[in-house]
This record gives sequence, structure tokens and C-alpha cells, in this order.
Amino acid sequence: MATSQIPVCPLMSAGNDIPIICVQERCAWYVANLKKCSMYIIGHNTMLELKNKLENRSN
Ligand code: SF4
Repeated sequence: MATSQIPVCPLMSAGNDIPIICVQERCAWYVANLKKCSMYIIGHNTMLELKNKLENRSN
């Protein structure tokens, strides 16, 4: 079975019985040059900051 390359939008899917796919350029939170949702970018950056803090703590 093939899997979709377009991610499901967690905001628009919340409370729906069926998943809603990301509308990409039609959403204000989509960062077109990175081809990513800003929620993903914020989460990714937060994880990198946490990883750096944990690494610095152990040194
Ligand atoms: S860019 Fe918009 S539509 Fe796409 S996942 Fe993010 S919030 Fe949802």
C-alpha cells in the first residue's frame, strides 16, 4: 500500500473523523521556501535546543 507524501495537518484534523491533509501554500503557517509547516520547524528547533542543553550539561 502506497503512503501519501503530503502530511496530515494536526490542526485541521483535530476533532475530525477523517484526516485532513496539509493545504501547503494556501495556509499562512506554511513556510514555502522550506516546504514545511511552521509548527514542524518550531518543534524541530525546540528539540535541537534541548539536545544542545543536555549535551552542555553533561560536559
Ligand atoms: S502548514 Fe497549515 S495546513 Fe499545513 S500542516 Fe501546517 S497548519 Fe496544517
